[in-house]
Parts: sequence; C-alpha cells; structure tokens
Amino acid sequence: MGRPPIVQHPLYSVPLPAGHRFPMGKFAALAALIEARGLLDRRNRHVPGPAEPEVLALAHAPAWVEAVLAGQLAPAAERRLGLPVTPPLAARARAATGGTILAARLALEHGLACNTAGGSHHAFREGGAGFCVFNDVAVASLLLIAEGRVGRVLVLDLDVHQGDGTAAILAGEPRITTVSVHCRCNYPARKQASSLDVALDPGTGDRPYLELLAGLLPGLLRRTAPDLVFYNAGVDPHRADRLGRLALTDRGLAERDRLVLETCRAAGVPVATVIGGGYDEDLAALAGRHALLFEVAADLTRRPRSTGSRRSCPGS
Ligand SMILES: [Zn+2]
Repeated sequence: MGRPPIVQHPLYSVPLPAGHRFPMGKFAALAALIEARGLLDRRNRHVPGPAEPEVLALAHAPAWVEAVLAGQLAPAAERRLGLPVTPPLAARARAATGGTILAARLALEHGLACNTAGGSHHAFREGGAGFCVFNDVAVASLLLIAEGRVGRVLVLDLDVHQGDGTAAILAGEPRITTVSVHCRCNYPARKQASSLDVALDPGTGDRPYLELLAGLLPGLLRRTAPDLVFYNAGVDPHRADRLGRLALTDRGLAERDRLVLETCRAAGVPVATVIGGGYDEDLAALAGRHALLFEVAADLTRRPRSTGSRRSCPGS
C-alpha cells in the first residue's frame, strides 16, 4: 500500500459567524489540497460515524455532552469554548471525535492512520475550552482501553499549546502516558500536569526543537512501551502562526513529523495522527502546513517496514 488510511468527513468544516477567528475553513482546504496532491482519494478515504453520547461520556461529564448535543450552553461555558454551539457544530464535534476513534482502529490494523481533524486538547471533562468541544484523543484512548484493544497508550502532543484538558482527563489513568511539548508563555495561562511536560522558551527554532525531540522520543517509547501512540501534530509552533510563539519553519515541522513517525515505526508502535492547532489567516498557507504531515506519512508508507521492530521480532 502506497498511502496511509486517511479519515475525513465533509462535516469537519461547518459555517461559523462571519469574521470568527477560528479558521474553520482549514479542514476543507486541507482535504482539497491532499486530494490535489494525490494523497487522498476514495481508495484510502475513511468516513467516520458520529461518536455516540455514551462513548463521549468516557471522557466527559454526561451533563456537558447533553448540553452540547442539545445546543444549550450557559453563556460562561460558551465564552470558555470560544465557539457558538449550533447543531452543525455539535455534529462536527461528534464527527471529529468519531474520526480520531476510527484513525486509532485503522492505525492498529495498518500501523499508521491520519485524521484530517482532531486534537481538541483543551476540552476538559466538565466542559470545552479554547475552540475544543470534545477531547477526541482522550475519548479514543479510553474507548480502546475499555474495549481491550490496547493495554497502554502514549499521547504525544506537539501542538504549541499545552494539552491541558487531555492531561486533566487522563490524570490518574496509569495505562495512558500524556506528553506535552509546548511554549511556556502561551495559552492556557494555568497549566495542568501531564505525565511529562516540556515547556519551551518563546522563539525556540528548528534546531533546538528537533534536538530535544530526538533525545526524548526513543527513551520515551522504551519506558512507556505503548501499544498505540496518538500524535497531535499541531502546526502552531510555526514562526508565522498567529497564536504560537515558537519559530519553527515548514521544513522544521516536516522534520518533526518524520522524526515522530519514523521513531514510532522503528519501535514497532502504531500511530494515529490528529492535526491539532494552526492559526493563520492565509488558509492556503495553513492547509499547506497541515499537509506536511500527510506528505511525510505517505512517504513513510511507501517504504518497506523495518524488520527489526518489537512487533516483528517478539522474542528478540
Ligand atoms: Zn494549539
């Protein structure tokens, strides 16, 4: 197979009020771009179903799930979320979460699978925040563990903002390790405790960033021995991002993605990717940044898998 399975749903981009600062159009722009580049077509496109309320309740308070699905949020809850919860937005949140669940299942089957949405890491158990309605990675992790599909999960969150909701929801779950590498001077003001937090100084560029990751990842995989990695490949560490404060280039982001996917592959660990944050008024540039992950994933999938992996040689 030359390309990884890609999860995509037309509901990933739904209308928002004119001038809203969340770049909702990026999901449709990303899908169009990777189609145009031959990375996505009907043969590797997988369309998710909506995450059901009882599945969402694995990571969320039932009252929050019900409020979103009914479109009845208290004004303070809607302010924290930063999005108006309309029926299309609720359907979108369910589709995106269903998408991350599907990507995880496909990753277990194929070694690698990519959702074209997901990474809503600021959503907490009791409510959403920072444009994040449901915490798709927390829901998917807890679901696959509950189903007995995996024993241990690693959440590797490289979005420029701390994965605070994910850390809080999954705290005290010994089978899930949460790792967040983020800019220390950035949203959220009040950080949570992930299993491991790496807080970078503003202005950190490609070289120190990649050196840090290269030093971190192999030991992290050895120590945690996950059956599945969720990789949040947010592109907001880019130097031109409106909400990030790091200084990565396009090339740096692509090298980051390659480093993560290759290291996991060398360890024989399946990876489900979610796109995470990215905030640029230039939607074409933003879609191009998110597409880097899909280019790297396709490139890796074209190459034969190493025979030295943990899974290929269980007795070694
Ligand atoms: Zn972010």
